[in-house]
Amino acid sequence: MMESQALVKTLDFQLDIESDNEGLLHDATHESRTAYNETIRLAKAGIDRREIPDRVADGVDLVKNTTQRIVAKALTAMDSFHEHDDIGLPSHTKSGPYPLRANYGEGYTLSTTGTGDVAFRISAKPYKHVIGFLDGSEVHLDILKTALSDDCWSIGTAEAMFHDGTPELHVTVTNTEQQVRDKQSSRTVVGVDVNEDNVALTAVSKNGVDDTVIIDFPEIKFERHRYFTMRKRIQKAGKWSMHDTLTGREERFVRDRLHKISRSVVEWATRLENPCIVFEDLKEMPDRIDYGARMNRRLHRLPFRALQSFMSYKAAFKNIPTVWIDPAYTSQRCALCGHIERTNRNRKRFKCRSCGRQDHADRNASVNIALKEVKQGQSWNVPALNSLPQVRKVRRPASGAVDAPSVTHPLARGHQTDGSVGVSD
Ligand SMILES: [Zn+2]
Repeated sequence: MMESQALVKTLDFQLDIESDNEGLLHDATHESRTAYNETIRLAKAGIDRREIPDRVADGVDLVKNTTQRIVAKALTAMDSFHEHDDIGLPSHTKSGPYPLRANYGEGYTLSTTGTGDVAFRISAKPYKHVIGFLDGSEVHLDILKTALSDDCWSIGTAEAMFHDGTPELHVTVTNTEQQVRDKQSSRTVVGVDVNEDNVALTAVSKNGVDDTVIIDFPEIKFERHRYFTMRKRIQKAGKWSMHDTLTGREERFVRDRLHKISRSVVEWATRLENPCIVFEDLKEMPDRIDYGARMNRRLHRLPFRALQSFMSYKAAFKNIPTVWIDPAYTSQRCALCGHIERTNRNRKRFKCRSCGRQDHADRNASVNIALKEVKQGQSWNVPALNSLPQVRKVRRPASGAVDAPSVTHPLARGHQTDGSVGVSD
């Protein structure tokens, strides 16, 4: 469960090193091992710790500041008895590479290029730099770019190392000004129901339901199906390289869309009073409970966790906390009368078997998600709901702005007195 969010993150990247500089980084990680071993040796010999950095620096070919970082790490490791490996040998007897630990601005620098890539420069040795570009997950690259452009964030130490032969850089970023606001101080709770073709959002407060919106993205499903068909054809023809190219393209398309969608969601939430965002914790589902075909479909079709985590960290940047709740019954419960029955839901249509109310099924679920968090986690209540606002549908949030001219779903024409809408598939 991700209950609290500290705004310190370690971001992992692969290094796309320019030209033949990889050997230089390799040498530097061996120098780093020498510095580590020498630190342990001097400390065990009883040398004053304040003198160790200078003495180690004399014997290794590394940037002075980087040497200091490695010495500090070695001493910390020694103090916490980590200097012995699994078979009890002091680790300073080891050879082989050791992570190069560097301070930002001194041992390494990063910069965003005009094309949106992140370039790095690691001072592997004095006046000798390893340069190139960072590769990594969209999430980590996006956080790093935010940290590089936003004054609230600072970039800290990084470690360069080889992992299974691949050069990597692990960068620590910290928010210097704020912790994400405590979720207990929320005055608005936003329930987020994530589906394969939309995200349904409902904001509730002590005034009731403040707003509700559905962001549609049918193009993801459409494109994924298109790529799937293309790959099948290519697979039959045995063109595997093309197969991989298509997979890469599809992934980039989907990620790009997920970023846009999550930006829209967070933008929408920032206009609410002290909001927190609530997700269903899909990990929390006990295996023995059958949540039905809907949930199974949901788990397999779209990288839901990725979409949730994009929304979660983008929200954290805006000081909006995230809450994860147990998803049980959120899609089967009537948001107005509370009646729970599996047959209440049929695809996108929700019809309560008890009170007869009809609703868009995903919107109904988003209300339940929000109400569940208010009940469990907040000190205030939502008054008994007699009606829900009309569902607003927004399609293709390419601009990122949800509040821009929105399309009221045509199916909302059957506007009933209780504010609910008739929906058909
Ligand atoms: Zn009902």
